[in-house]
Amino acid sequence: MADKGRTHLKTLIRRSAIQKRVREVAQQITKDFKGERVHLVGVLKGACIFLSDLIREIDLEVSLDFIAVSSYGKDKQSSGQVRVLKDLDSSIEGLNVILVEDILDTGLTLSYLQRILLQRRPRVLKVAALLDKPSRRLIKDIRGDYIGFPIPNEFVVGYGLDYAERYRNLKDVCILSLPPE
Ligand code: 5GP
Repeated sequence: MADKGRTHLKTLIRRSAIQKRVREVAQQITKDFKGERVHLVGVLKGACIFLSDLIREIDLEVSLDFIAVSSYGKDKQSSGQVRVLKDLDSSIEGLNVILVEDILDTGLTLSYLQRILLQRRPRVLKVAALLDKPSRRLIKDIRGDYIGFPIPNEFVVGYGLDYAERYRNLKDVCILSLPPE
């Protein structure tokens, strides 16, 4: 069970604020791609909740695919090594692709994904991310086109984000502080 009642979880962004902002981001996408089709590529697993809320608010013809890359595992620090664990099911050539990420942190994952996806010649490649920690960026020119919330340098869980596969089902985005070992 997600033990939200315990002191190591502190709410950062409430469910109602997330819902409102996701709707705004979807409206912006709908406006930017008016009359066109968009192909959403969700980055598993963290983006799954954001993606499933976002897609239902986009008023366009939408198709969907997923890619999975190696993540932190049980560690809170990025190893800097990115690896594709599950590739896309179909070609993205000529499509309006929106890569849907949970959070932009150092930018290493996004930089890698942009590199491999651009080689497949989409018509455009945009990036939507629920959260952004700009102060942590190691790769300078990495940025999202549609950002839900900029956040401070804290480790967050909930609304799809995990720590060692836990807490993804929290409705709010919460700051996780682990007790010293
Ligand atoms: P980056 O490659 O930008 O450093 O990290 C991107 C990935 O690291 C995210 O997609 C996410 O899986 C993970 N990550 C970065 N910051 C956090 C965080 O605060 N909480 C969680 N749960 N994952 C994070």
